Amino acid sequence: MRPAIPFEIALADLPRSAVSPLFERLRKSVGRVTRRTPLPDEVARWHTHAIGGVERRFAQPITFTPYASVQPCSARCSFCSENLRKSDGGTPASRLRPAPDYFDGLSRALRALRGVPLSWSLSGLETSDDADWMLRLLHMLTASESDGPVVEDRVLYTNGAGFAAPQGEVLRRALQGFELSWLELSRHHHDGAINQSIMRFRPEVTIGDQAVFERTARQLADAVPLRLVCILQRGGVAQSQDVAAYLSWARQCGAGTVVFREFSRLDDAYRDNATARYLRAERVSMDALLAACLDDPEVSRGWTLESLTEGYYFWNLRLCTASGLNVIFESADYGAMHERHATGDIYKLVYFANGQLCAGWEPGHDVLLDIRTEQVLSHG
Ligand code: SF4
Repeated sequence: MRPAIPFEIALADLPRSAVSPLFERLRKSVGRVTRRTPLPDEVARWHTHAIGGVERRFAQPITFTPYASVQPCSARCSFCSENLRKSDGGTPASRLRPAPDYFDGLSRALRALRGVPLSWSLSGLETSDDADWMLRLLHMLTASESDGPVVEDRVLYTNGAGFAAPQGEVLRRALQGFELSWLELSRHHHDGAINQSIMRFRPEVTIGDQAVFERTARQLADAVPLRLVCILQRGGVAQSQDVAAYLSWARQCGAGTVVFREFSRLDDAYRDNATARYLRAERVSMDALLAACLDDPEVSRGWTLESLTEGYYFWNLRLCTASGLNVIFESADYGAMHERHATGDIYKLVYFANGQLCAGWEPGHDVLLDIRTEQVLSHG
């Protein structure tokens, strides 16, 4: 795995809005901060590029997501952000299905980004649910690297379903050929029954079974650097003892890194639907849980706090356990994300199944290029 681009700054340089109460405490014990987001006047960290004849500023680093939405996800997590709805939103990305000419459009979008340094961030719904689509995607992205963007990291976010299905081995090999930087595998509890109550895999999906998951995770860990991702929530990993148990199980699964994520904080742009209510009711504070872990020597003995990272709408703490496992505690704020997107600068690139290349997660918003109409629209 290649590290994030390291731009170290003094903690005092961070905007106060990005600082949680725990940050103040960590300031004393963590000497290094990585800022992944450039300041507006940090010229060297903005890549200027004309797309459709219009000059844009692209933050560095930046990720590109070909949003996977061939079919509904094999899981049905109650907290799934794909089911959040903006009050002013149109058709959500999760409801769009790719047309037969999808890959032609993606290829044209990537050619329009020729020369822009970026990283592949493969997510959306579940990329591995349609193995043939995923294989075509990897092939196309690889081919585009000779005549398109300058690619730094290649990351896949997955619930693992396709890797436990009949074409799992083919997919694993394809990831190696793709030179995946690392894979983020979602599993929200170390107990199989509790995890199933959270992720609610559909009955025919074998990765829901604990033994199948553990075997699949170890196979993946043999093929690519593996990170296990656990979303904190009531009824799941919520206490410091849960963190300790999850970490020791993750090592047995072959993970080199574990990511604990808090539910994203929402601003008032979202409708009060079942997902938003679930996030409100079942939220576990990362600050409180992390503080509890740090205060509990049975959990954090031997931990080395290594660095803090500030992203464009998230911050995280990286540490290393005595056994060499890397652990990341991460928190994200969608309000901060919307503020960044509203500046007109570009912090994120997403290509949707409707042929739109957008500077955010909503089809129809912040459209940079519309492949189907070849119409270039103004950003914002
Ligand atoms: S696995 Fe991911 S995309 Fe699928 S329902 Fe869960 S959170 Fe949503």
